Amino acid sequence: MVRVKGEDEIRNMVKTHPLDKRRIFSIVAHIDHGKSTACDFLMKRAGLLSEALAGERRLTDYDEEEQERGITIFTSVALLNYDFEGDTYLLELNDTPGHISFTGEVSRALRASDGSVILVDALEGVMTQTVTNINLSVGEEWTKPILFINKVDRLIKELKLPPDKIIERFGEIIKEVNGYIEEYAPKPFKEKWKVNPANGSVVFGSAKDGWGFTMPLLKKKNLSAKIVLEKYQEAMTKNISEPLEWLKKNLPLDEALLEAIITHLPSPLEAQKYRMLKLWQGDIKKGLTVKSKEEAQKDLETFASWSLINVRSDGPLLGMITKIFIDPRTKRPTLIGRVFSGTLHDGETIYLLNAKKSVRIRRLGIMEIDSVLTVDEIPAGNLFACQLPDLIPAGETFTALDTKEIPGFEKIVYVSEPVVSRSIKPKDPKDLGKLGEVVNKWVNADPTATFVKDEKSGEYILSGIDPLQIEILIKRIQEEVPIIVGIPITVYQERPLGRGIEIKTKCTEGHNKLQLYIEPLDEKTIKLIKEGKVQDMQDPKARAAVLREEAGWDAKMARNIWAVEGPNVLVDMTSGVQRLDRAKPYIISTFRDFCKEAALAKEPAAALKVVITDAFVHEDPAHTRAGQLFVMTLSALNISFLTSNPALYEPILRVDIKAPLDFMKQIVGLLNQRRGKIIDNKIVGDTLYIRGEIPASEAVKGFADELRSATQGRAFFGYQFEKYAILPKELQYKIIESIRERKKNEGKEVGLELPTPFTFKARMYPDAGHWRNAILEHMKQYGNKWVVKELLDATLESSQ
Ligand code: GDP
Repeated sequence: MVRVKGEDEIRNMVKTHPLDKRRIFSIVAHIDHGKSTACDFLMKRAGLLSEALAGERRLTDYDEEEQERGITIFTSVALLNYDFEGDTYLLELNDTPGHISFTGEVSRALRASDGSVILVDALEGVMTQTVTNINLSVGEEWTKPILFINKVDRLIKELKLPPDKIIERFGEIIKEVNGYIEEYAPKPFKEKWKVNPANGSVVFGSAKDGWGFTMPLLKKKNLSAKIVLEKYQEAMTKNISEPLEWLKKNLPLDEALLEAIITHLPSPLEAQKYRMLKLWQGDIKKGLTVKSKEEAQKDLETFASWSLINVRSDGPLLGMITKIFIDPRTKRPTLIGRVFSGTLHDGETIYLLNAKKSVRIRRLGIMEIDSVLTVDEIPAGNLFACQLPDLIPAGETFTALDTKEIPGFEKIVYVSEPVVSRSIKPKDPKDLGKLGEVVNKWVNADPTATFVKDEKSGEYILSGIDPLQIEILIKRIQEEVPIIVGIPITVYQERPLGRGIEIKTKCTEGHNKLQLYIEPLDEKTIKLIKEGKVQDMQDPKARAAVLREEAGWDAKMARNIWAVEGPNVLVDMTSGVQRLDRAKPYIISTFRDFCKEAALAKEPAAALKVVITDAFVHEDPAHTRAGQLFVMTLSALNISFLTSNPALYEPILRVDIKAPLDFMKQIVGLLNQRRGKIIDNKIVGDTLYIRGEIPASEAVKGFADELRSATQGRAFFGYQFEKYAILPKELQYKIIESIRERKKNEGKEVGLELPTPFTFKARMYPDAGHWRNAILEHMKQYGNKWVVKELLDATLESSQ
């Protein structure tokens, strides 16, 4: 039973309700599988939405953009209370978006949750985002799952399957989901977290029609799955409403869902015990054996660990901001987060561990769909909403002012990276200040998007993980400030395909020397960097161990890493070079610059392993100033890179398209025209599902619009970053030239011509003549490949 509560009653529940009678969870699904519809049933059950409206109006989709596109973009939060077997439960629901452009939001909603409902369309089955979501849920954020197989009606209506075939189909979906749970879940949970219809961790039903069941529920009501499906079939085939009414009354969806959630998802008390092992940076074991608060207080880390394990409201304050929600009407940001330890008070000044600054909390409360109910304090084990005077990026950890030394939470892993960007500037230059504020606000709300301000032109460059995300961001910004939008730009990568020459360079006066070579970084190490297992700021011993054990690095090399910048590393393999420490910071900073803007087109470098093999550092500090060391290092990096058979890599997006079968020819044609590929396709009933790949540079050139018009707006599609792949040979030089030209026009210091190793000949030691043949020989090895062919010709000319 659900009762609508008065405001004070709700406030009281948030503060005092027993921890074991709480559930904080998210619903995750592939786009269009019915998550918003399902959430609305839960809202209705909480007394927030009238029964007639639920199923038609989707309350969680209150952002205009969402309504228009019919997709859920924002995570909304809602509070429910539910009476089950004599106890009242407090449920806090994080609704998550289904569109792949917003996986960042899914990751953060899951961070604040202890459990997840994985929702799958019975007809479509496990789709790409379902897999991503299972990975994020059980693999990255350690939230225990249950499964909801929705849209069962489609199996009857569209596939005309008889009950036994429907049950077979359920079995297939469950098996597939469990396969992914097994693959991604941490070891101790691989078996425990599998879903099982017999124990009630799988819900079957239809969110639109409002009925659902679990096997234990059927048993309790003396019914069988076959009877239920036959009833439904009768309603569908005879087009009568009685059987449906019967189902809604006897097997309401919310009952099945809420009971499964309460029975199978963990309480904060249960979940924080193991989730903190993965998500907290401190040593959680310290608090395990502590018997009393006094004992825990002996040091801050022990106190925090004890408090996190036991979800104590009287421990040190630790929480995370997981979402920045911009009110679609007022456009004001509201921050949403979770308190994991201690108590957060309204008006309190909190300390942000990543930004390293303090801010004062305003309007603390809890979020109920789209309004905030103010509460004076929020103890551990709750979601909360608040306002802050300054904007901070979602994903921040906060604590109290007197516990600044406390360890924070692990960074949230995002599955995509920014691959497209667009420049924007105000129509009226007077709006520049305002544009800054608006861009800041929206980009902070979505950490998978970034921006840089070009001080010279006053433009903002927005970068995001796919063209659709940027399109939506721009639309939102445009609503507040009139802007001029530049053409979409793809972010390429520059990679070495082979080993570059081991070059020795000198600074202008020849007082310092540096010898290094560049070679491709192995894929295993790149993966470790992506997963955050190998990082720039990391204990060198721990890093060396990971590199040795997981990527087969030589022990000495692994120990001597100076820097990790993007998917690139700098290693020092010199021995006994005096005063090298003095030059080290300058060499590292030049390496970082080069990684951001490499040699071919000043695009970011990737897969660089830069190995320093010898150096000489002058004894007089007057001769080892930044400028001197900078040109010497930059020349060495350029020369070795240009001889490493470098090539441009382009981002490839995966595109999932769903459209009526009639449009197959048009869609395939469009993909072919744009260097796209079809990886897989399936036809279910009259619907066509295509999984393809398309270069981001082609996708940004209006692919979305063409697809919409070719299919009369009836195609559903989404992108996801897939990989970087080498740009076809015939495009290499052309694209490099066009990027150089664009950057030059933007006023950057870029020449139109590709540099050659001999562009840097004044820096070669002992002199260019000494290197001439070695460089040419080295390049000839690759002479007929990729961009090196053009480079070699230019090099021959400039070496004369
Ligand atoms: P979301 O993108 O996962 O949030 O999906 P929505 O809740 O917006 O639903 C997508 C579409 O599926 C809408 O048109 C819903 O009306 C429809 N839908 C939701 N549940 C069901 C169901 O049980 N059966 C059928 N046939 N359609 C459903």
